[in-house]
Amino acid sequence: MNTGLRRACVMGHPVAHSRSPMIHGYWLKTLGIEGAYELKDLMPEEFSAFVTHLESNGYVGGNITVPHKEAAYRLAAGHDQAAEAVGAVNTLWLENGRLMGGNSDTHGFIANLDDRAPGWNGPGCRAVVLGAGGAGRSAVYALSARGAEVHLVNRTLARAEELATRFGPRVHAHGYDAVPRLLREADLLVNCTSLGLAGKPPLEIDLGPLKKGAVVYDVVYVPLETGLLAKARARGHRTVDGLGMLLQQAGFGFHKWFGGNPQVTPELRAMLEADIVAKTPK
Ligand code: NAP
Repeated sequence: MNTGLRRACVMGHPVAHSRSPMIHGYWLKTLGIEGAYELKDLMPEEFSAFVTHLESNGYVGGNITVPHKEAAYRLAAGHDQAAEAVGAVNTLWLENGRLMGGNSDTHGFIANLDDRAPGWNGPGCRAVVLGAGGAGRSAVYALSARGAEVHLVNRTLARAEELATRFGPRVHAHGYDAVPRLLREADLLVNCTSLGLAGKPPLEIDLGPLKKGAVVYDVVYVPLETGLLAKARARGHRTVDGLGMLLQQAGFGFHKWFGGNPQVTPELRAMLEADIVAKTPK
């Protein structure tokens, strides 16, 4: 199908909850660009055929979300540096007929941290990252690229060990028993697990040993203020929520598919905040 209108989509399962159409819809409207951004719910067994025929399916590219990011990496003919490093793709686009894959979660993660907690990476910065799934990989890559020493904690230790091997000697793998000791030395604590997400169990962690000046970052953004961030705020830590990461990763794909210079404006953030608050059970 080719209607002449440039169309992109977010591919995942499930995707009904995705805020990406709101973000791209806002930019299409405010930049006056004719285009469309849609939801595409694809089961794992449908994903490969859909992406292989992305152009004939009517799309110039799209975002990839759970559970397809690693499959998208394997299907793309070429990758940007971040996707290559992380082994996962969150953005697909067509370049001279070739399917290209990039990873802008890494940029979104670090741009949000720079924006919300400027100066977070002083000399000798030590970060503790909880979770070695897709978000954890992006965080570990981005933090180590910025010179931080990263202590990666995961329930399944082997996943953390695999990332420590992938990213080199400044990344160390641990189980949860090491957390109290790691928090005493940490300048930054990041939650990259799905714990604390609405509908999931809370992240049970004692912030008692955490250094007073440490920044606490949760990539989960539903609810906007997770239990972890509420506890950290009450203790006087600087906190960073995950919504900025979602917003900051999005411009990369938009520019590839539609052109223009999309900006994360206070108006856009306020629109998403209002949507999250309205749809998240108290
Ligand atoms: P994922 O690949 O499925 O990884 C989930 C992680 O959570 C794994 O490390 C897993 O540990 C851990 N985990 C799950 N249940 C646990 C439990 N009961 N106890 C301890 N650890 C547990 O998911 P993901 O893609 O990394 O996403 C993680 C979270 O980040 C999600 O809530 C997602 O919404 C959020 N996220 C936000 C953004 C953003 O733009 N702000 C982007 C991506 C993701 P095991 O390895 O042991 O299973």
